Amino acid sequence: MSNQKAPRKSCEKFLDDAFDHLQVDLEMQQLLRSPYREVRFELPLKRDNGSISMFYGYRVQHNQSRGPFKGGLRFHKDVDLEHFVALAEIMTWKTSLLDLPFGGGKGGINCDPTELSTHELETLTKRYVQRVSMLIGPDRDIPAPDMGTGPQEMAWIVDAFSIIEGFNPAVATGKPLELGGAHGRLEATGYGVAILTELAAKANGIDIDGAKVAIQGVGNVAGYAARTLFSKGAKVVALSDSKCGIYQNKGFDINEVLKSISEIKKEGGSLRDIKGDHKQLSNEELLELDVDILIPAAVGGVINDDNVGNILAKLIVEAANMPITCSADSTLNERGTIILPDILANAGGVTVSYLEWVQNRQRYQWHKGKVIEQLEHRIGNAWADVKSRADQDKLNYRQAGYVIAVERIIKAINLRGL
Ligand code: NAD
Repeated sequence: MSNQKAPRKSCEKFLDDAFDHLQVDLEMQQLLRSPYREVRFELPLKRDNGSISMFYGYRVQHNQSRGPFKGGLRFHKDVDLEHFVALAEIMTWKTSLLDLPFGGGKGGINCDPTELSTHELETLTKRYVQRVSMLIGPDRDIPAPDMGTGPQEMAWIVDAFSIIEGFNPAVATGKPLELGGAHGRLEATGYGVAILTELAAKANGIDIDGAKVAIQGVGNVAGYAARTLFSKGAKVVALSDSKCGIYQNKGFDINEVLKSISEIKKEGGSLRDIKGDHKQLSNEELLELDVDILIPAAVGGVINDDNVGNILAKLIVEAANMPITCSADSTLNERGTIILPDILANAGGVTVSYLEWVQNRQRYQWHKGKVIEQLEHRIGNAWADVKSRADQDKLNYRQAGYVIAVERIIKAINLRGL
């Protein structure tokens, strides 16, 4: 995802709706809107060739009323403080909605990791940890992979933190299995997307067996969501990468097509190079397909004022963060399109991150079956909470999700006292 831009600003309307519904007073609104802490710091890096490059590191800690801050570490050349403020806030609502004992945070470095050597990346990541060591930790703030970072960066974080504070793998999640990572973390988000898609489809009269599904993306989340939906009988008719989409009316044999895609990607190719009995289409065309279910699983802002009039799917599942702009969301709601919001749809990842943190604190690694069982249990509960609140208060799923999340945080703040 290194060529992607993050959302610049969260959608204030989503929060405003929740505040109105719950009649939250202005002081509490102010408290919930603004981050607890925003940090930016210099990160000079001596490059392998002896020159010095200057980067900036960021960590935004939005809310910790229900537990330590939790959120990813993003390495991307275009990030800035504003990005992380928006992303940290979303983590607060997501962890609350999933009833995890965490708050929300996000951070990263404004670097392009593809332009750095492994040695340079390790040095930069460890320097980042030196700068934020007093702010992070298993009971303070727990980073995880995000765009441009993965298990290796998390392993470097554990190393750098452990030198300062003593060995503690619970300082980061999304680690390699050998260093306390959780079985099932890799597939958690996509698997969760698929489980929640099935639940939302069923509640809205769409049988997943035979449902036509278009998925934007073909990365980690899209791949695992596609595999799981295919195993449930869904017809996945379209997939895409940043360059091109592929379409097959009868539905792809997902295991076959993902195998071919992975081989082509290893050779540096794209979906354009895939051979087979399918048509090519653009990402724009993919979003406008006449399907039962559309799953944007790549980047933010792809459904917006320019194309919202052409979106035909009955159910949209937000696997990516903020794939629908605020005003497009209003248009879709007026039209009766069902939307499963990002704070629920893609929360499988942070849920398994929580399970990883629990295992690290117990110094015991669970088998995959137990992780998946707990994941299903937790996202099933979150779906049931959203569905019943939506039915009871006549809200859409996004409004219901925000109302539940905000309500839980206000309860925690009031119980703790200011
Ligand atoms: P990834 O890097 O594995 O895959 C991203 C996919 O998007 C790739 O197939 C890429 O080719 C495609 N893509 C990139 N630019 C595109 C564009 N402009 N148009 C269409 N497709 C494009 O990333 P991922 O881990 O699968 O994450 C996908 C989305 O889900 C991101 O928005 C991420 O923030 C969100 N998300 C991921 C997780 C997780 O656990 N991985 C958790 C929560 C949310």
